[in-house]
Amino acid sequence: MDLSTSISELKGVGVETAKMLDSLGIRTSADLINNFPRRYDDYSQVLPIAKLKPGQVTIEAKISQAKGRYVRRGLHITEAIATDSSASVRLVWFNQPYRAAAIKADQAYFIAGDYGLHRGRFTINNPSVEQVSNFPINTARIIPIYHEAKGLKSFTTRKLIREVLSQTKQLPEHLPGWLLVEHKLMPFHKAVLEVHFPSSSPVLDKARRRLAFEEIFELTLAALLNKYELYKEKSLAIPFKESLAKSFVAKLPFKLTDAQRKATWRIYQDMVKTQPMNRLLEGDVGSGKTVVAAMAALMAMEEQFQVALMAPTEILARQHAETLYNLLASVGYGHHVALLIGSLKPKAKDQVQAKIRAGEVKFMIGTHALIAEKLDMHKLGLIIVDEQHRFGVEQRKKLQAKAGHMPHVLHLSATPIPRSLALTLYGELDISILDELPPGRLVVKTKLCSPNSRAGLYERLDKLLESGRQMFVVCPLIKEADFKKGLSAEAVFEKLSNHDFKHRSVALLHGRMKAADKEKVMQDFIKKKYDILVSTTVIEVGVDVPNATIMLIEGAERFGLAQLHQLRGRVGRSAHQSYCFIMLSDSRAPSQRLRALETLTDGFKLAEIDLRQRGPGAIYGTLQHGALDLRVANLSDTKLIAAARNAAQKFIEAGEDIKKYKHLAYRVKQLRAITNLN
Ligand code: ADP
Ligand code: MG
Repeated sequence: MDLSTSISELKGVGVETAKMLDSLGIRTSADLINNFPRRYDDYSQVLPIAKLKPGQVTIEAKISQAKGRYVRRGLHITEAIATDSSASVRLVWFNQPYRAAAIKADQAYFIAGDYGLHRGRFTINNPSVEQVSNFPINTARIIPIYHEAKGLKSFTTRKLIREVLSQTKQLPEHLPGWLLVEHKLMPFHKAVLEVHFPSSSPVLDKARRRLAFEEIFELTLAALLNKYELYKEKSLAIPFKESLAKSFVAKLPFKLTDAQRKATWRIYQDMVKTQPMNRLLEGDVGSGKTVVAAMAALMAMEEQFQVALMAPTEILARQHAETLYNLLASVGYGHHVALLIGSLKPKAKDQVQAKIRAGEVKFMIGTHALIAEKLDMHKLGLIIVDEQHRFGVEQRKKLQAKAGHMPHVLHLSATPIPRSLALTLYGELDISILDELPPGRLVVKTKLCSPNSRAGLYERLDKLLESGRQMFVVCPLIKEADFKKGLSAEAVFEKLSNHDFKHRSVALLHGRMKAADKEKVMQDFIKKKYDILVSTTVIEVGVDVPNATIMLIEGAERFGLAQLHQLRGRVGRSAHQSYCFIMLSDSRAPSQRLRALETLTDGFKLAEIDLRQRGPGAIYGTLQHGALDLRVANLSDTKLIAAARNAAQKFIEAGEDIKKYKHLAYRVKQLRAITNLN
């Protein structure tokens, strides 16, 4: 028997069980061992019966007087008495009629279960029973609880893993020896053994730490290798001209925030190098990322290089083009800005391209399709990627092939990803955070609402609409089976346009509409053709509609805090006071988690809360990437993350050859393909 032994050769695996395991992807001993417990029940304390306290307990005792009977149809009860040298206690099993016959007199058993007062008598209900041995699996220890699916019981998995447990000795070490020593890590084979059948709670912690460390180490190593590989590429050095930067800043209608100045300075420092920049500029909605991007673009154009900005939608591209034209006009670079989007007439596109070739246009703004256009990009110095999570190694390589060099890349994102998480997942990026909003912003007034108050709320909203403002209504679903719940955009649109707001003009927007139709609805909303826009989260990373000052979010519980915060960011862009109403699903008191929205205005703080309470998926849905598969590591464990990241750094600096570590090389190769913003 070894790690590749088929599970069908194990004791107690019949055709049925084999099928069940197969459907869960478990085919060999190695697959079984790789299937870590979901959680544990601690039955490790073996106590004399006289000392029992209510709770999860194990006793070592003999069992007598086991008798089963039907108390009524469908309810079978087995009762017995367990006795040790200190006292006796009653055992009761429900609907396990085989119990009485299985118990042997004079046999010493471990008996583990929930001890407490049941119907006026102290009993242990539905206990697990096994003969006393020095390696019990269901009693007298910390018991692993496995994922149950497709009819496979945790109990069965436990038994099978016990059978193959000795195979863990053959598991090769994944990590370099010096790393184990330096970080006091348990050897891999031992960690796997302990994670299945822990010898004690502290040892289990150590085993889990070892496995978590490995996961984060792999992730950060992959990211760092990507990063250093990129550094070997050549890009066009963009000299920093202080006087130009100063005159641009002097002509702005506002003073840059400290965060903006710092970020801009870092970007300029990156761009003077021939190493490609790969920087993420993270900042809450309204923190002023566009000005920073404009300053980066300005320096590139001054050096006669081209700049491309990619936006997720055509509307956003349009708005960027307008804003950037205005910003850059002050220093004589406005006319270099051109919009290049799919919906332009062919003639207009030709014109733009001709101007680009002639060097009259240097700053192209468009959607992702922009790259696909047949552009002469031999002088492309800088790419700015706005709100797109799909610009990683692959995309960069394509561009490089076309341009003949690797342009500098600046990513802009309003998704507040806490630093610890960003370092792990996007470790290949350098990160700048705009952690302060320009002064004098009106805070969006935020209120959690109970459905009881809906009628009053609608009256209030109607007054705001009457005064000329517009409103977003965001729903968690497009369609739903049960219309009464009112969580789908379609149902809410129907209700608002035909009933509550039938005297207003209402539009519907959702992700299943054609791109052109979506853009049209959005454009018309900007033009104030509609008072109310009912939509799904497609407007999350959206456009600037300053006149829309009201945000109503339905089904609050279905969203993460960071997401709710981003939705709220759609309003609050004008001199008028803005409001965000968050509708709860029932009239019970809202959770502390949601309450935080009423008081906190910092997206990063909200994201931290989400990360702690709900895991990374809540912040960033696509983190649920199959290959990421973090089974043990907790992405909010900042200490572990820092240690593992340092180790990865050291691994690279020590000139270690990853090929020496077969498993590590394999995992890192997998991860390198996905540890980008994608
Ligand atoms: P975002 O980070 O969401 O992209 P924008 O770049 O669109 O933010 O900026 C939001 C608004 O704030 C714009 O109207 C911009 O002109 C303004 N703004 C940017 N920086 C400052 C500043 N330092 N002081 C005042 N207003 C600013
Ligand atoms: Mg923006």
